[in-house]
Amino acid sequence: MKAALLHSFDEFLTGVEWLTHEDVPEPVIEGENEVIVRIGGAGVCRTDLDIIRGLWRKYFNIRLPHILGHENAGWVEEVGGRVKNIAVGDPVIIHPRTFNSRCDTCGERMPKTTNLLFPGMSSNGGFAEFMKVDERSLIRLPASLAPMDAAPLADAGLTAYNAAKRASRHLVPGDFVVVIGAGGLGHVGIQALQVLSTSEIIAIDISGTALNLAREMGAHYTVRADEYHVERVLALTGGKGARAVIDFVGDEDTVKQGFTMTRRSGFYYVAGSGGTLEISTTDMIMSEKTVEGILSGSYSELFELIVLADRGLIKVTTQEYPLRNVNDALRDLRDGKIEGRAVLIP
Ligand code: ZN
Repeated sequence: MKAALLHSFDEFLTGVEWLTHEDVPEPVIEGENEVIVRIGGAGVCRTDLDIIRGLWRKYFNIRLPHILGHENAGWVEEVGGRVKNIAVGDPVIIHPRTFNSRCDTCGERMPKTTNLLFPGMSSNGGFAEFMKVDERSLIRLPASLAPMDAAPLADAGLTAYNAAKRASRHLVPGDFVVVIGAGGLGHVGIQALQVLSTSEIIAIDISGTALNLAREMGAHYTVRADEYHVERVLALTGGKGARAVIDFVGDEDTVKQGFTMTRRSGFYYVAGSGGTLEISTTDMIMSEKTVEGILSGSYSELFELIVLADRGLIKVTTQEYPLRNVNDALRDLRDGKIEGRAVLIP
């Protein structure tokens, strides 16, 4: 099969061709609960750029050559002997984590926390024609959602939905919620906040295209990120800051600002990576703010998100690239040229 392979890391992303499109052996069923999925679409995530930079080696043993891609959907090609809930030909979306156990209290499928498995990071992912997964990672797609359009729901959508759901528990009419970054995750987050809360949504981004998309998706206010955007958000919120701030960027620039834009007793959710948050304990006590990290979402949350997408309440804006042009997609993502999410089609 054809796949896009990472042969070496590039810390500063200065290379031109990070992945090579080449022939590799197809995956083979070994376990009775395994399923081979023919990939219909694989979303391209900022985390993929960070993996290429080698930043995730601390968390996962990434063996080269490696196939990236943790945001996948397609059709069932082949099933192991004990697979019961899914049949050959079914359109499916793949949850980004591998589920090995169930929660003691609610019975929900849980990732094995001691050994977190993320196909595309800890094992080969979906930048390929076929991918092997566990049956328990799959959700059948409704007829309204084609795999190439639904793929970004598996990670960008799921993470954004999880963040919006957590924030909306604290939001009441009259509150403000800030969304930092209106790209692949942010544009879904805004729609999820529209569905789950009645708050005023403020979207922040450096890109005008992203802010236009944010407005289309339902943001009430858009603020261009520059040296004065924190002041503008404080002015919009009557000087208090927002009850909830969801940071889909999470780099060095945004973390301090995100915390500052969070109002007293408010909630700051970090769903992007790369930055460092330094807060004095006195600030924590005096402001009584809560900081929470968001890592994708649960199996049930992906199911909920598919229900919302099937009802037309959440849509992903995608830009499609053939798999052989994977480096163009990665470069466009690095350069902030993608509207919504880039999806690779094998
Ligand atoms: Zn991702």
